[in-house]
Amino acid sequence: MSQPTTVAGKHMMQMKIVPCFGEFTITPPVLLGVHWVTEYYNSLNSGSGSKKINQGVSDVCVHWAGGMHHAKKGGPSGFCYANDIVACIMDLLRHHKRVLYIDIDVHHGDGVEHFFYNTNRVMTVSFHQSDGFFPGTGNIDDTGVDQGKNYAINVPLRRGINDNSYLAIFTPVIHNIIYRYQPEAIVMQLGVDSVVGDRLGQFNLSNVGHASCLDYVLSFNLPMVVLGGGGYTAYNVARTWTLETGAVLGEKLNNVLPKNTFMGFPDGKGRLEIPSVEMYNHNTPKFLEDTLQKVLQVLAKTEIAPSVPLYTPPQDWYSPQLKGDPDSISEDVRLPQELKDVLVDHPQEHYDGEKDNDQDNPEPLLKTESQETPVKVEEPIPEIKPTVNTHTEKV
Ligand SMILES: [Zn+2]
Repeated sequence: MSQPTTVAGKHMMQMKIVPCFGEFTITPPVLLGVHWVTEYYNSLNSGSGSKKINQGVSDVCVHWAGGMHHAKKGGPSGFCYANDIVACIMDLLRHHKRVLYIDIDVHHGDGVEHFFYNTNRVMTVSFHQSDGFFPGTGNIDDTGVDQGKNYAINVPLRRGINDNSYLAIFTPVIHNIIYRYQPEAIVMQLGVDSVVGDRLGQFNLSNVGHASCLDYVLSFNLPMVVLGGGGYTAYNVARTWTLETGAVLGEKLNNVLPKNTFMGFPDGKGRLEIPSVEMYNHNTPKFLEDTLQKVLQVLAKTEIAPSVPLYTPPQDWYSPQLKGDPDSISEDVRLPQELKDVLVDHPQEHYDGEKDNDQDNPEPLLKTESQETPVKVEEPIPEIKPTVNTHTEKV
């Protein structure tokens, strides 16, 4: 096999192949340019959300293409190549003492938990399907290590959970966490594979129930970055994130969809809301109560609003002051190479005028009256007269 010559190709050669999803064998597919798309597009967009929160420009930022919660430091996993969530949280930590990460994807948010497993600056809480479901982690007893002990919260659930059962455990857990941990910002991953009818997930949540979780977290009025995640039934994904975009905007959307090209498709029946179906709920009231009590016991061991030593946050590499006005940057400011690269003008952007670099002053194609080249007024050449000796000597 020939060695890849592109940068993206070299990165892809280093990827691990990860078997997952139980009886299936699904590996993150190797595609040309996928590294660029996931690392730069996802991370920069989720990162731009965190920057807007840091700068106080926005209260809630949404990036549905983000939420790649399985990616690890060492390689991709479960369709996730670069962990945009970690990048987003790391940026938020520059200006916020404590960040809460909430994950309601049907899979355990292992990549994010793994990254912040030993710190109390970030509390991670994941509600996910257990019973050997991918990635197989997220046991209720896995609660963090060292300084992060008890700051990783796992709520493993069983198949067939419906809206009432889910909200019966989601609401008290989140309420307890927010009043105890007192986060200054929240990042929420809203994978749609926890909605009924997903091709991988086996929960029985309606998309209204799914959106109710977002509504509940929004009700605390904390700065928030809302991200997408998994979702393997296309019409579920489109409907649920549409409904949740409305929730972020405070809009109640009409359940009857406007006429469109896909109206004749059998799924969805032209309705925005996806109802739960008849399915056995393996989450008995006793199981839910036991799980809730175990989680609350872990939370009871956490310090209330753990403090952070005072420090001066480093300057944002891309701030409104720097945006679009490179001339305003002091020469004393040391800039990262990424910003220097952005600030280099393309040669075709050079223009004549006061910023003319080449000083060639080409003639404009069309001249207006005011642009006409002034005619140089030449001084008259003095007439040269032959010298006449007027002083004739008298002989
Ligand atoms: Zn998932």
